[in-house]
Amino acid sequence: MSDHYDVIVAGVGGMGSAACWELAKRGQRVLGLERFDIGHAMGSSHGMTRIIRLAYFEGSQYVPIVRRAHELWQETGRRADTQLLYVTGSVDLAPEGAGFVESSHQSCLDHGLTHQLLNHAEIKARFPAFSLPSGHVGLWQPDGGFVASERAIYTHVGLAQAAGATIRANEPVLDWSVTAHGGVKVTTARGTYTAGRLVLTSGAWMDTLNPALAPHIKTVRQAIGWYTVRNPEPFRIGNFPVFILTVDEGNFYGFPLWEHPGFKLGGPHFGREPIDPSQPDRTPTERQANFLKDAIEKYFPDASPEPLALKGCIYTVTPDEHFVIDTIPGAEQVVFASCCSGHGYKFASAIGEILADLSITGASRFDLSPFSLSRFMRAA
Ligand SMILES: Cc1cc2nc3c(=O)[nH]c(=O)nc-3n(C[C@H](O)[C@H](O)[C@H](O)COP(=O)(O)OP(=O)(O)OC[C@H]3O[C@@H](n4cnc5c(N)ncnc54)[C@H](O)[C@@H]3O)c2cc1C
Repeated sequence: MSDHYDVIVAGVGGMGSAACWELAKRGQRVLGLERFDIGHAMGSSHGMTRIIRLAYFEGSQYVPIVRRAHELWQETGRRADTQLLYVTGSVDLAPEGAGFVESSHQSCLDHGLTHQLLNHAEIKARFPAFSLPSGHVGLWQPDGGFVASERAIYTHVGLAQAAGATIRANEPVLDWSVTAHGGVKVTTARGTYTAGRLVLTSGAWMDTLNPALAPHIKTVRQAIGWYTVRNPEPFRIGNFPVFILTVDEGNFYGFPLWEHPGFKLGGPHFGREPIDPSQPDRTPTERQANFLKDAIEKYFPDASPEPLALKGCIYTVTPDEHFVIDTIPGAEQVVFASCCSGHGYKFASAIGEILADLSITGASRFDLSPFSLSRFMRAA
């Protein structure tokens, strides 16, 4: 039957493209369904780059998965004869005692990651592009960097297709149900398909396909900007790492110059705003643009506060800001990854592998208990 697959993947963005590749690599007959073009600016993964940090202030439980992701970004890049991972080193910058640098440090100690604590003078000497408040300290980790996120989606899709996957763009999934044979039936705007299993990787639209998760997530818009620098040298790869900067206004993050004349800055955490993903406008609000402008003036005096480009990007947040990777209650043949709260992309290569393993064997080599859906039920 031509419309039957081993696995259907609903949503071919960051996580879904990786899942399509990991499933096709294992010889599964895969159908990837995407509501927009492959590679678009309506979801969570556009804007060229995403930070990958191994020192993880969000929690040590992420480190084994991000280590695997780091390996896979390199391996997949080599296989496709492209570069997906750029290692620049990462630095977490925060007031001493605020908990951020201390948590990142703990994750390095827990997992034996190479690192160095930096005082204010050392940060200034090593990374002159920053102008930081005097109480700031830093944690340097040399394996951090960034992933070329848009390129990675194209790469994963291309590899998946070469391994036999069918990818259908501009075909939104409308509904799914479990069949009498224990498989799934998926209805799209263009047809109906059946499969043994279903992977939901629909990002900011996860609530519509996953009602069990819907009460626990909300969708927000975040702003990113690219800014002219007066002297590019201190902002170049080698002189400037990816960073998370915690200041009174929230967490900002940024990248060295890469394939764009401007230096990229995102955030702050407190500046994100609720958005309905079905409305098409992603333009950052004036408030968000001003947050970035003020941060450039205050913390990067060698950059111009007038953006060369300003974009909005949306993602879901959970109450505890941690991921949800699980099966749907009562439908074990449906697995999903909501790798949300604004810090998920770096993991996409490994999440693709996890979703493939869960779909095929029902198990993962990683401890996924911190990411269970049931934690919200227990908390309720
Ligand atoms: C501004 C910004 C900066 C970020 N910075 C970082 C960072 O530096 N490092 C980091 O690790 N993470 C970062 N993140 C978070 C990270 O980008 C996201 O966690 C990640 O992109 C989520 O990937 P996804 O596959 O879940 O979503 P997406 O890539 O959006 O993919 C979901 C896909 O599903 C499709 N879809 C939805 N509904 C349907 C349907 N019904 N049928 C078919 N297709 C459907 C969508 O069109 C979309 O293509 C950032 C996010 C933003 C917005």
